[in-house]
Amino acid sequence: MIEKITKQQLINSVGKRFTKVYYNDITKTHICHELKSKKPKTEKEVCDIIGNNSWTTLQCHNCGNDFNQVIKFTDSFDKDKYLYICKDCLQKALSELD
Ligand SMILES: [Zn+2]
Repeated sequence: MIEKITKQQLINSVGKRFTKVYYNDITKTHICHELKSKKPKTEKEVCDIIGNNSWTTLQCHNCGNDFNQVIKFTDSFDKDKYLYICKDCLQKALSELD
């Protein structure tokens, strides 16, 4: 499966994703509450609440850089396996093909 993933999607879903992972962690309760009440709209707002940008980094699995959008290739046999690939790397890959 091929789909576009954007950094804004990561930002918009960070509250839900973070809470799913840390709902049981009492040291993260205040962060869960802040994400829910403030509903951050930018990467900076998320960073100000969580303390880092690990939840909004959209890294290309080939070149390792952070992008605003990538293509997600999901393994058709194992939906948990996927690759994020940026436009530059896709263009390089295309130039390899006849
Ligand atoms: Zn790349």
